[in-house]
Amino acid sequence: MNPEYKSFYKTVGGDEGDKCLYSTRLDTYGCGCMHNCKYCYAKSLLSFRGLWNDKEPSVADIHKIEKVISTIPKRIIVRLGGMSDCFQPLEQFEKITLQTIKLLNQYRIGYLIVTKSHLVADNEYMSVFDKDLAHIQITVTCLDDEIAKSYENASLSSMRLKAIYDLQQAGFDVALRISPLIEEYIDFPLLNSLNIDKCLVEFLRVNSFIKKQFPKIDYSKYTLRHGNYYHLPLDEKQRLIKMISLDNVSVCEDVLGHYEYWKNHYNPNKFDCCNLRTNTLTIRNINLPQNIEELRKFALVGREKIVSIRAEIRAIDKLGLANDVRRQKLEEAQMISEAVLDTEMRIGALTVQIPKATNTKGNQYTDKWKNDNAVENPKSKSETIKNLGFTAKQIERFETLAKNPHIVEQAKAEARGNDDIVSRSLVLEKIKSHTIKVKNENPIIVKTKDVYIELSEMQNKIIDVILIDYRNDKVNLDITKEKLYKAFNNALFDE
Ligand code: SF4
Repeated sequence: MNPEYKSFYKTVGGDEGDKCLYSTRLDTYGCGCMHNCKYCYAKSLLSFRGLWNDKEPSVADIHKIEKVISTIPKRIIVRLGGMSDCFQPLEQFEKITLQTIKLLNQYRIGYLIVTKSHLVADNEYMSVFDKDLAHIQITVTCLDDEIAKSYENASLSSMRLKAIYDLQQAGFDVALRISPLIEEYIDFPLLNSLNIDKCLVEFLRVNSFIKKQFPKIDYSKYTLRHGNYYHLPLDEKQRLIKMISLDNVSVCEDVLGHYEYWKNHYNPNKFDCCNLRTNTLTIRNINLPQNIEELRKFALVGREKIVSIRAEIRAIDKLGLANDVRRQKLEEAQMISEAVLDTEMRIGALTVQIPKATNTKGNQYTDKWKNDNAVENPKSKSETIKNLGFTAKQIERFETLAKNPHIVEQAKAEARGNDDIVSRSLVLEKIKSHTIKVKNENPIIVKTKDVYIELSEMQNKIIDVILIDYRNDKVNLDITKEKLYKAFNNALFDE
């Protein structure tokens, strides 16, 4: 009998959780995977600690899984198969994944299945998947069956492709996941000839473990160090992506600066790199009003309600009332605070579209904001905001939330994990540190002429000026210490 897998449910934080919208993981099997892929990151982490058993992976207890599922908020989509394939051969005997999917259906929780098995398209599963809840990604790393067999024990690539076609044809939300993309193993013309609706790409991350498993790969291009891995620089990744001409290609990225690039310039859905069919806005807006005036009322009443429940919880704590009464109140507050955040994000997503000037005052925007009756907005943004009863600062905060939905989701999951109530200020703090991190990883390089003009406007400010000697790179440096000196009104400079 296989050992029990106890840590089957987790919300991933840190770098990965910051970027991934589906950071809540439920693994039906763990501590090993019968597919035993040579590039497996779970394997590289667990083998090191002697915890990887590919012959006898551990199996989660379905009763414990049900207990956890009963507490998952409805709007979350859990990811199955993060640390061990949930459709590996063991599933044919244990059926824990099948039972888990039935439970997720029963509790109306969405699920994202990531697998390398054709089993996922068997009738036994297809007949159970709920089209409103199920999202499936089938990973293929090489289209040649024989080559793939040399480094992974999963279903043949041809069988996985057939599974994608079957699920696609049956109307499921399914994508081909190329993860990791290793240039040497991909036949790009063959890939581009496939009849695939949706594709997700994740690039290879290199460490000594990977180098040992794949000694023939050319690692000379993996020059970018990030975290504990070496990555391809962005221009190399762009070159590879240009070689894929399938529809709906999205990039799942680990390097923060690159993540921002794919998000803003490439991915079909900038709010969700997995590009799931039930997009994030739809998920978030379940049961939320659509009209901006209604949203405003909802947000106001919701905030009042949170204040009063917090007071009730404090009173419960003081009086030492039963735990289940406190839990019930906490859950109520968590639900309302999440709904209020969603409402504010929705308001932000609407107001961000309002042109700043009116149509008659030389409006620079071509897309004119329309109100709920699809009538062009004749007022300026500040007037519109004022009429709606918001301040400019409030709207700025709502728009910041709307632009960072993955951080909002992560803060919600973290707060729940800590038995806490998510607050807007906490989310805005998280967004701020994320933005600083991105900026630090992507310094803005401007022409020296622009620097001079900017500096002239920044008198009386304390700033750090770093002058880099570009002489060897043939860059014409036309800023001098005298110019800087003048720009700062004869301020003192350290040499
Ligand atoms: S299928 Fe996934 S979890 Fe299993 S060994 Fe391969 S990469 Fe690891």
